[in-house]
Amino acid sequence: MTQQAVKKPAIGLMGGTFDPIHLGHLRLAWEAHSLLGLSQTEIMPCHLPPHRDTPSSNAQHRLEMARLACADTTSFHVNDWEIEKQTNSYSIETLSHLREHISPDSPLVFIMGMDAFRMFCRWHRWQDILNLCHLWVSHRPGSSPPEEHSDEFQLLQQHRAAQPKDLLASPAGKIHVHNTTALDISATQLRDNIDQGFEPRFLLPEPVWQYIKQQQLYGWQKNTTFSDK
Ligand code: ATP
Repeated sequence: MTQQAVKKPAIGLMGGTFDPIHLGHLRLAWEAHSLLGLSQTEIMPCHLPPHRDTPSSNAQHRLEMARLACADTTSFHVNDWEIEKQTNSYSIETLSHLREHISPDSPLVFIMGMDAFRMFCRWHRWQDILNLCHLWVSHRPGSSPPEEHSDEFQLLQQHRAAQPKDLLASPAGKIHVHNTTALDISATQLRDNIDQGFEPRFLLPEPVWQYIKQQQLYGWQKNTTFSDK
């Protein structure tokens, strides 16, 4: 049998608050998905503690917005596992859960931005995470790579994969840093803009924006001054 014939499907995971989901998230997931030829990418909104100090929307709204954003893309599957658990999930738990449902030989690729990776070595059981998956780390406007001598810098030195496809040669253990198309969009900025009455159109999928308006999320009100509805 050729190596091609035994190749196992590779799966992606992108977690986040997605409050709201925007084109920065979707482009990041898409570039990893398409460059690696992943068979499916799980988009997993996290549970949020009720005391979160930003004007966030509730879990069902975040889930619904993610579903609307991914509705036309069969490559992405919105996964409600963390939200349904109703407790905070550590990434190691989510990855272990996904691993239980895929072959041990299948590459599992955890997709994140550089701002998230810079904190990686503060995560619960971070040393175990690379036993379960690869990391796909995207450069993000405003986020520089980890400082020399930081734990994240050393981890990168030890596990770096120069080419995206290097992640497909094994189920876990490598880190690829990618120059994803730079989109300087953040959910915090979007929430602030909406609250101040500026429409965030063309920064997130239109159905998500329509949903925000309909549900009056993030302080949006029907008669907001700057609206051009
Ligand atoms: P907030 O502003 O509320 O912190 P966010 O826009 O950073 O939100 P998250 O849901 O926290 O969004 O991010 C989920 C993942 O997407 C993280 O790994 C983050 O690094 C990545 N990410 C978010 N926005 C971008 C972007 N514009 N470009 C690349 N990666 C991004």
